Amino acid sequence: MKAVDLPQPAAKARHTLAWRLAAAGLTAFALAGAALAQAATVGIVAAENFYGDVARQLGGTHVNVESILNSPDQDPHLFEASPKTARALQHADIVVYNGADYDPWMDKLLAVAKNDKRKTIVAAALVGKHAGDNPHLWYDPATMPKVAHALTDALKAADPAHSADYDANLATFVASLKPIDAKVAQLHARYAGVPVTATEPVFGYMADAIGLAMRNERFQLAVMNDTEPSASDIAAFEQDLRKKQVRVLIYNSQATEALTRRMLKLAQDSHVPTASVTETQPPGKTFQQWMLSQLDALAAALGNAKQ
Ligand SMILES: [Zn+2]
Repeated sequence: MKAVDLPQPAAKARHTLAWRLAAAGLTAFALAGAALAQAATVGIVAAENFYGDVARQLGGTHVNVESILNSPDQDPHLFEASPKTARALQHADIVVYNGADYDPWMDKLLAVAKNDKRKTIVAAALVGKHAGDNPHLWYDPATMPKVAHALTDALKAADPAHSADYDANLATFVASLKPIDAKVAQLHARYAGVPVTATEPVFGYMADAIGLAMRNERFQLAVMNDTEPSASDIAAFEQDLRKKQVRVLIYNSQATEALTRRMLKLAQDSHVPTASVTETQPPGKTFQQWMLSQLDALAAALGNAKQ
């Protein structure tokens, strides 16, 4: 017999497995048929909106997704969680976050907002990264397929009645990543070994996948950690731009300290093409569209470089 879900109480978006089983039993007697129209939702909280978007694509109409880091206008490295965030986590069926010290506030909140039934997915754990590694894991083409598989497993465990839908959504999602892989391969064939630089390591894994020779990594780490790069690292960065020793400057438009703005201006004055990237998914784009548009912008910048 097919499990039937009760209409969701408006004030409580909580769907523990126990509640769902009780609901299924109840409906068998009292509400069979009547509640069929209303599908229950699995509550998902994503620390970052790109994981939230992927969860929405995988869950379709069966999920309710809340993303905490949502705005490309704020620096995620400086984010502080609020009590509202803790409450959302308390009631979530599935939580997904980056880890590798990108969102250290999540570990603290989850420890406080305990919930034995909640399934937690940490991207860093899926790809073997730790605190101290470059935390911008969603720019690694290998990361999202792993997160998507883990999310699908969690969705099927939380809501087995819709397993077939989740499997179909996963297949669609995995197929939708193919144009990104194709673009990376195309850029690799053309630009592997080309020297570039960046204001922050946000695009680092993607640059690696393309085979670009990334320069000034110490400078980028200092900017990411909100500390001052050394005078010699700043001088080396400026030299690279002035002497056009790099083909492109990849600019994190989400972390715009005076120093990174200075480098952007120097690149423009030196006629070094720039490609803008963000840490957080911009509104109106899916994860896939966001990645492709940034790869297109990079391709245009690499193509514009005059040596
Ligand atoms: Zn960052």
